[in-house]
Amino acid sequence: MNAYLVFILAILIGSYILDIVVEILNIRHLKTELPEEFSGYYDAEKYQTAQRYLKENTRFGLITETLFTPLTIAFILLGGFNYVDALARSFNLGPIPTGLVFTGILLFVSQLIHIPFSAYATFVIEEKYGFNRTTVKTFILDILKGWLLTALIGGIVFSVILWFFEKTGTWAWLYCWGAVTVIQLFLSFIAPVVIMPLFNKFIPLKESELKAAIEEYARTQAFKMKGVFTMDASKRSSKSNAFFTGFGRFRRIVLFDTLIEKQTVDELVSVLAHEMGHYRKKHILKSVLISIATTGLMFFIMSLFINNKALFAAFRMEHTSIYASLLFFGFLYAPIEMVLSIAGTMLSRKHEYEADAYAVTTHCKPDAMITALKKLSVDNLSNLTPHPLKVFLSYSHPPVLERIKAIRHISC
Ligand SMILES: [Zn+2]
Repeated sequence: MNAYLVFILAILIGSYILDIVVEILNIRHLKTELPEEFSGYYDAEKYQTAQRYLKENTRFGLITETLFTPLTIAFILLGGFNYVDALARSFNLGPIPTGLVFTGILLFVSQLIHIPFSAYATFVIEEKYGFNRTTVKTFILDILKGWLLTALIGGIVFSVILWFFEKTGTWAWLYCWGAVTVIQLFLSFIAPVVIMPLFNKFIPLKESELKAAIEEYARTQAFKMKGVFTMDASKRSSKSNAFFTGFGRFRRIVLFDTLIEKQTVDELVSVLAHEMGHYRKKHILKSVLISIATTGLMFFIMSLFINNKALFAAFRMEHTSIYASLLFFGFLYAPIEMVLSIAGTMLSRKHEYEADAYAVTTHCKPDAMITALKKLSVDNLSNLTPHPLKVFLSYSHPPVLERIKAIRHISC
């Protein structure tokens, strides 16, 4: 049997088994009695609801994976990629358009199959727990806009990568790295102004006690920014959040309207102080640099597998091509990607503690920070007691009880 095929099947089945084990451990790790810290924030009934929400989401996730893992394996073993390739080649286009058709068909079909699952998650599960505010119209428009953006941006990026690998030989990976980095930086500059408004409305925060408090805090920290905006997150979900977008002078703070509804001025300023902490501690810059470095690593390893005959045999392909090489490489790269992602979440959790510490030492209202975190957890029905393995593998933020414990140890 083809060694690449064995390796790829082992990865697909291995990661499926790992997911099942982690999710079962996580469910078993649930504590039925409410952690002391949260008494007064959760009543017994709501805490039960939070646990049912977690269990239902976990079960749904595992069912989805149980359907898609065998489907992916069957598609590989039955030579599905070769059928799609034959179809793409039948149009007799050049290598780049053929690559776009090939990838486009695969992406489109896979997204189409996922729609019923995403509809169930939104209109059945989220609805049942009172989160859903998405209308069918918003749901459909989101999908269409997502496709349009993927076709446009993905199409450009994929064409550029194919062109370099077709035309420039040995150093193609280096050119791809440079080009993709430039495109990524450009996109993150224009995203707040061009892309995000396609999905949500951003309205400058009206003159209010909140706005005055935010500006006052930003002034004491000499923090330059473009403004404070509210986002109509409530059109999709009642869950709440806040974030920064943009760079340098163009930075803008975005508060979900759902967050403003629920938190006091001190709590909201604490949340923003945390977000500013990410800038001040250069977390954003570090993440961008790390992402650039790993992109380079990926392109270099990718270049070693272009038109690899044995790899194409694993997928039962009749013809080799650069576009299919890129796709198949994705299967090989999955374990490296997983290691990088675990390292990334570890770093991110460290950054969260640092941003909390920054918020508490500069805003000096640890109690407001703590109640803000508690309200966020309750509103979003977050898991208060996740299993450590689940945290290690995928949590970008430390569990809320650990964050609260750490905040209590900071003096301002
Ligand atoms: Zn953060």
